[in-house]
Amino acid sequence: MLDQTTAIFNSPASTYDGPKLQHTNGNPGTHAMSAGAATARRIVIVGGGIAGLATAARLAQAGFAVTLFESSELGSAASTRNQGWLHSGALFALDAPAYARVCHESLESTLRFCPECVEPQVAAMAYLFSRPETLVKSWTDAWTAAGIPWKELPIDPVCAALPGIDRARIQHAYQLPDRAIRQDILLTHLAAAAQNAGVEIRTATPAKCLPIENERVAGVVTSSGEEVAAQLVILASGSSGFSMCREFLEQRPGSQQEFELAPLKAHLAAVEPHIGLLPFCIPDADGLNHIPHPPASVFGTAHWERVSTPDDRPDAKQVERLRSRIHEIFPDVAASSRSLQTWSGTMIQALRFDQIETGGAIWPAVIDHARHVPRVQNLVSVFSGRATLWSKLAEDARRLVRAKLDDTVPKTARPPWTGSE
Ligand SMILES: Cc1cc2nc3c(=O)[nH]c(=O)nc-3n(C[C@H](O)[C@H](O)[C@H](O)COP(=O)(O)OP(=O)(O)OC[C@H]3O[C@@H](n4cnc5c(N)ncnc54)[C@H](O)[C@@H]3O)c2cc1C
Repeated sequence: MLDQTTAIFNSPASTYDGPKLQHTNGNPGTHAMSAGAATARRIVIVGGGIAGLATAARLAQAGFAVTLFESSELGSAASTRNQGWLHSGALFALDAPAYARVCHESLESTLRFCPECVEPQVAAMAYLFSRPETLVKSWTDAWTAAGIPWKELPIDPVCAALPGIDRARIQHAYQLPDRAIRQDILLTHLAAAAQNAGVEIRTATPAKCLPIENERVAGVVTSSGEEVAAQLVILASGSSGFSMCREFLEQRPGSQQEFELAPLKAHLAAVEPHIGLLPFCIPDADGLNHIPHPPASVFGTAHWERVSTPDDRPDAKQVERLRSRIHEIFPDVAASSRSLQTWSGTMIQALRFDQIETGGAIWPAVIDHARHVPRVQNLVSVFSGRATLWSKLAEDARRLVRAKLDDTVPKTARPPWTGSE
């Protein structure tokens, strides 16, 4: 991913005064032990993106001792460089209703836990339909069935909020709860929650290898050679740690893996100055979507391409596809003085075989490597599916870890993002 979004997130218009963190910066912590020290009672998490931080916060809340290693800065990869679309699940409700429900629950958790992450002055999302033949009732029925609140909007005010839109292309408009969020703020809150629950966060500390013997990982060896013992290691290293998880999940002759690793690539475009503060998605126009991050508008489509390895170089054909979609709906964007920059990014996901064809419904995955070849009894990998689903991922991870380490669970506490129970 390129720096354009980082620049957007760092713009003075969206200065953040929330909790600041103090991380241990590459220094050996107090938990350094020899790799053979099998008595360590610590869980080590590799990766400080949304998946690693949410899992760390939830496990520490549940009473586990957790250390998290991040090779660079927290959220330095996909987690702060994505489009910032907090999905309500509405886009998936027709094809994957169960997934839509989970997205909606996760949206509510996110807004409860960190309302500050919502992009200021940016409204809830408008779902627009561009084709007269689209059966919009099947969409509204699917939203109702998934428990996602919606209401029909008059088209003219919607178009007035999006200057330059081709009014003739808009047949119907609905309001759904999807939001534009600043992932960096959500991430900072998660890191603060993790730290408050006792997680030791160590940035600028790449994990280099996992010493494995007799089907058990002893801990993590960092790039400086420090050995940190662990009773369980969790890989949350995203696409930059692809090689590390591939080692444990690639297909091997004679073995039946439950998951397949899939790097998925998307192209985004930032139009500046922004075209308006109304986020929208057009499901029947390639899923063209617009997430405002003032001063820019960030556009994407529902098109994710499967690639063989993570690679953030833009593909000319996909860039052209995105541009032409934008120009169909906003014919004057090219002619105006607005700048349009395109870039691409890859996320790595673990797809169960029955999920590979489900389009955009990419479920969070928590993988127990005791069930895979090579078998490692105390190694787990986590994949968020979408950043939106961090709370579901964290809960699934807690359940698995608890089942694996139930003799050592000291106490359980509510996650910081649930309401009162
Ligand atoms: C272009 C694009 C747009 C997207 N848009 C959206 C969106 O709008 N809404 C949404 O919900 N989702 C979106 N996603 C998906 C979302 O960004 C990802 O699902 C999510 O960020 C993955 O989080 P993660 O923590 O698994 O990975 P990452 O954020 O990549 O974090 C992994 C971390 O691990 C660290 N790491 C790697 N190797 C090591 C090592 N050896 N030692 C220590 N640390 C290591 C990395 O530095 C990194 O910080 C988008 C993704 C892309 C690519």
